[in-house]
Amino acid sequence: MLKTEEKARIAIIGGSGIYDPTFVEEPKELKIYTPYGEPSDFITVGTVKGVKVAFLPRHGKRHKIPPHRINYRANIWALKELGVERVISVSAVGSLRVDYEPGDFVCPDQFIDMTKSREYTFFDGPTVAHVSMADPFCPQLRSICVETARDIGIKMHEKGTYVCIEGPRFSTRAESKLWRSFGADIIGMTLVPEVNLAREARMCYVTIAMVTDYDVWQEKPVTAHEVEKVMRENIEKAKKLLYELIPRIPEERKCFCEKYLDEAIL
Ligand SMILES: [Zn+2]
Repeated sequence: MLKTEEKARIAIIGGSGIYDPTFVEEPKELKIYTPYGEPSDFITVGTVKGVKVAFLPRHGKRHKIPPHRINYRANIWALKELGVERVISVSAVGSLRVDYEPGDFVCPDQFIDMTKSREYTFFDGPTVAHVSMADPFCPQLRSICVETARDIGIKMHEKGTYVCIEGPRFSTRAESKLWRSFGADIIGMTLVPEVNLAREARMCYVTIAMVTDYDVWQEKPVTAHEVEKVMRENIEKAKKLLYELIPRIPEERKCFCEKYLDEAIL
C-alpha cells in the first residue's frame, strides 16, 4: 500500500535527454509493480515549488529501452497507482515543416498513428472499450503549457499534428514526404499508445514536443554536432518550462478527460 506522501496528481514522463528529475525537490524513488510487468524505471516522487509530482523516464534512466519496447501499459498503470490525474509528456521530435525550426517547441493537438506492434489498450476483453480520441490532448493543460511558454519567452507552436512511427529506424525520404502530404507537422516514436492509455486511465495528457532537427524530407544534411547542441539547449528550456508550468496547474480539472471512459465501455 502506498503512503499518502508517495501520492502525486501530476506526472512528468521524460523523453530523450530528460532522465534525471533535477528540478524535483525532496526526491524519493519508488518501485511500482503492475499487472503488466515493470515500468521503464523507478518513479521519483517529490515536489516542484511545493507541488507534488511523479517523474518517470520513458526510456529508463540510461536510455536502454527503445520506443517499440517501452512497456507503456506498465508506465501508465504505475502512475495511476500513485494517484496521477495529469500527465505532462516531454519528447524530442523531428520537424516536417520549415517554420517549425530546430529548437522550437510544439504543443500538438492531433496525432496520426503509424505504429505497428504495440499494446494499445487496457481493455483486452472480456470488457471492451472504444475510447474517443477525436481530441486526444487535454485542452486545459494545453492552454496552460502554451501560456507559460509565452510568458517565459520559449517559442512554442500552439498546434501541430504528431505522426507516431514504429521505429526504431528513421523514415525513408518517401515516407517522410508521405507524412507531410498527410498533414503531419512533427514526427516521433513514443506518443502512441501512451496518450490513449492515459485516456483509458481517466488522465489528462499533454505533450511538450521539442524539435531537434528537420526530418529527411528536407534535403539539408544536419550534423550530429548540430543535433546535439539543439538537444542540450532544448533540455534546459524544457526543465525551465516544467518548473514554471507545474505550479500553474489548478487542482480542479475543467475538461472532459476523466469522463471519456464512461461512454467508451460496451
Ligand atoms: Zn484534461
